[in-house]
This record gives sequence, structure tokens and C-alpha cells, in this order.
Amino acid sequence: MKVILVEQPGGPEAMRLVDWPKPAPGPGEALVKIAAAGVNFIDIYHRTGLYKVEPPITLGMEAAGVVEAVGEGVSEVAPGDRVAYAMSRGAYAEYAVVPAWMLVKLPSGMDFNSAAAAMLQGMTAHYLVFSTYPLKQGDACLIHAAAGGVGLLLVQMAKMRGARVFGTVSTDAKAELARQAGADKVIVYTRDDFLEVVRAATNGRGVDVVYDSVGAATWEKSLDCLRPRGMMVSYGNASGAVPAFQPLVLSQKGSLFLTRPSLQHYVASREELLWRAGDVLGWVQEGKLKLRIDRVYKLSEAAEAHRALESRATAGKLLLVPE
Ligand code: NDP
Repeated sequence: MKVILVEQPGGPEAMRLVDWPKPAPGPGEALVKIAAAGVNFIDIYHRTGLYKVEPPITLGMEAAGVVEAVGEGVSEVAPGDRVAYAMSRGAYAEYAVVPAWMLVKLPSGMDFNSAAAAMLQGMTAHYLVFSTYPLKQGDACLIHAAAGGVGLLLVQMAKMRGARVFGTVSTDAKAELARQAGADKVIVYTRDDFLEVVRAATNGRGVDVVYDSVGAATWEKSLDCLRPRGMMVSYGNASGAVPAFQPLVLSQKGSLFLTRPSLQHYVASREELLWRAGDVLGWVQEGKLKLRIDRVYKLSEAAEAHRALESRATAGKLLLVPE
């Protein structure tokens, strides 16, 4: 089978399409023939070595496809089932072996591209607004990179929860997309000072929660956007990892709460996974949650997809499809 491998951490050119033996599922595992794999920023962290994994590095944390075989003791799925999953590495390939408990059956009629586009970023948005800081009617939140893959879904879900949504984006074109997703106030943070805008629009109070996936570039000002006892949810590092800091800063800025969550800990049980995936895929199916698939690449074009994502040229989801 064809698979993308990285021999040593590096730039997009480090990704090579190679022939590899087709894997066989062990006990509790399923072999999935991949129809579409999602591209996520975490794939860039794995490729560059920001998140350490043993080389040769396989990439890709989400896909949709068909179960081809199952190992001993698997009860969750059977050969022929149409499934999707997130948070098991190795989806940039024609086949992947995945723990069977991580597989979710697709609602009937859902296409593979939509399922692959919804799982990882959709469940991330879900846990952020339902569990990490459960938004309630009337809360105000700030969402950075609001026209990104997670961003567009997070804006929609924050609106479902009844929050007032501030969103930041780098361009006017992205601002329009964030507005269409429901953001109440969109700030082009490459031009305008998001802290000033948030302060002015909240009469100096600040927002209840900041969902910050940009990291180093926005960290300091994001803290200043919070009301006393507000929550900083630092869930990504698109501009680089947040530098070391003193917890005392949280006290000085208003007894703030800080968390650095990861999806894996919010879909750690089958029950929680089925709740989040069921909501996300169900809403997509009902048209309540809109996906924006920015571009579909061939598996062999994975490097190009990474270049586009890293250069901030994308808005919404990127997919890889085996030839
Ligand atoms: P996005 O589609 O959001 O792409 C990243 C966006 O970040 C860019 O489009 C850009 O938006 C913004 N950005 C700001 N500064 C930079 C920079 N220097 N370089 C690149 N991008 C920058 O990606 P994803 O939806 O895949 O992921 C979004 C973030 O969420 C990532 O940080 C990812 O790690 C994180 N994440 C975390 C999870 C978790 O559980 N903790 C799970 C899933 C994702 P703009 O042009 O508008 O500035």
C-alpha cells in the first residue's frame, strides 16, 4: 500500500509517498480502507518534531473509510461498515489499523469527505464549548483563527450555546467567512488590535473565555482580554508554542483560570466519543453544522497541503484522498 512517511522531522519536503506492507489488525483492532483523510495542524507538529514521535513518522490523525477486516474480540464494527475516526496516527495512507473502539459508524447517506472533514475539528469544537468551558447563554468568548478548520466549527457551536462571539482572522476574505459562520464581531488581527476591540465592546469587562489556538503570537493579549476569573483555553500553537511563564501572572491579571486541553482526553471512553461524534455528525447531516472543505488533495500532494495550511492560505478543511 502507499503511505506517507517522514524519516526525520523536517519541512514539508520530508514527507515521502512510499510502498509499505499492508498491515493486519491485531486483537481489538480494525483495518480501514481509507477513502479520505483529514489534514490537521497536529500533523505539522508531528512532522516538524514539535510533538515528539519516533521516526519513521506516520502522519494523519483522522479519516473516513470502510472496515476491511477486524481482529479478535472486535464487537464495535464489522467488515463492510462505513466508519470514521480521529486521534489514531497513520491516516495519510491507503489503509490504517485503528483500535476498533475509536471507530464511529457513519450516518446513512453521509459521504466520506464530509465525515473526514467533521471528526477531529468538530469534536474539538464540541469539547471546548460543552466541557472545557461550557458556554452558556449570554457568555462572551473570543475565538482566534475563527476562519480556520476548528475555528469555523467553533464559532457555529459557540453560537448554538447562545454565546456572544468575537473572532479574529488575518484577512478580509476570512472575516467574511467567520461572519457567515455566525461570529458577532470579527477582528482582522493583522491590522487591528484585538485587545482594544474586545475591551471597548465589553465596556472594559472582558470576555468570559478565550479559545486560543494561535499560541505564542496571541498569548499575552489573550490573557488581557479576560474578565476577572475568566478562563484561558490554550489549545494550539499555530504560531509557535507559548513560552514559559509564572503562574503569578494569572493572579495579577484577575485570578484567571488556565487550561491546555487535548482532544484525546475528551474522547477517552467509547461513551464520550459516541456522544461527541454523534452530535457532530448528526448536526452535519441535519444541516445545522456547515462544513467548509477548502480543498481536496491527492495523497501524493500531502506536502502541498501542509504548505498551504502552514502559510495561513486556507480557510476550513483540507483533505487527502488516496489515488
Ligand atoms: P487552521 O485551519 O485553524 O489553521 C491554522 C490557522 O491559524 C491559520 O489559518 C491562521 O489563521 C492561524 N495562524 C495564526 N498565526 C499563524 C502562523 N504563524 N502560522 C500558521 N497559522 C497561523 O488549523 P486547524 O483547524 O487544523 O487547527 C487549529 C488549531 O487548533 C491548531 O493550533 C491546532 O493545533 C489546534 N487544535 C488543537 C486540538 C486540541 O485538542 N488541543 C485539536 C485540534 C486542533 P489566520 O490566517 O486567520 O490568522
